[in-house]
Amino acid sequence: MRIVLFGPPGSGKGTQAELVQEKYAFPKISTGDLLRQAVREGTRLGQKAAIQMNRGELVSDEIVAGIIRERVFSPECRRGYVLDGFPRNLAQARILEEIETHRPEIAFEVLIDEPTLITRLTSRRVCVRCQTIFNLNTQPSKKEGICDACGGALYQREDDRPEVIRERLRIYHEQTQPLRAYYQKKNVYHGIDGSETVGSVFIKISAVIDRELAGSGGRIPEQ
Ligand code: AMP
Repeated sequence: MRIVLFGPPGSGKGTQAELVQEKYAFPKISTGDLLRQAVREGTRLGQKAAIQMNRGELVSDEIVAGIIRERVFSPECRRGYVLDGFPRNLAQARILEEIETHRPEIAFEVLIDEPTLITRLTSRRVCVRCQTIFNLNTQPSKKEGICDACGGALYQREDDRPEVIRERLRIYHEQTQPLRAYYQKKNVYHGIDGSETVGSVFIKISAVIDRELAGSGGRIPEQ
């Protein structure tokens, strides 16, 4: 089973991907997380990606496809996996199709209005050490600027600044949203209202996954 989660920045798709990983033991593959890790480690790939990421632009299809290819064939992904932030455009969707042709698939788009997204993103803070995510309004740390989990300093992601958010949203509408029609045509698309609580959004997502798994008799065909 391949689960694709896409949605605008701030829609909560990363959180939902984590919940899917926990409940179904499908590893989460987040290209954003993997790219940020490469940036932190200062690898060649990270240095290349950092410039585009800080501007809110997409990293090249070639770089992200390489990351995905490496992960989907790992033994942990044999039963299935959940993709967070990939594909991000039609070219990447086609690359994914080529990488794994017969994998049964469900695609979720997390839908949410723009003012909510902007509020969510500008108030997001991340721990510099353990990457735990906080929100100044909805999930503040106990001590301002300090991570509850490890005591690390909290920072604002470079691409969560208002001018970069605008660019990320523009790119989302232009490049990522066409995935809706693509997955609708494949009959695997599910639009989910992302403005509800994390728990209610997940109930809807897992209802779809459970239905699909029941339809395959609980068997998950391996690639
Ligand atoms: P995210 O954490 O998913 O919001 O991703 C953060 C940034 O990483 C994006 O704004 C892009 O610069 C880059 N990125 C993540 N996934 C992809 C992808 N599939 N294709 C191109 N760039 C990506």
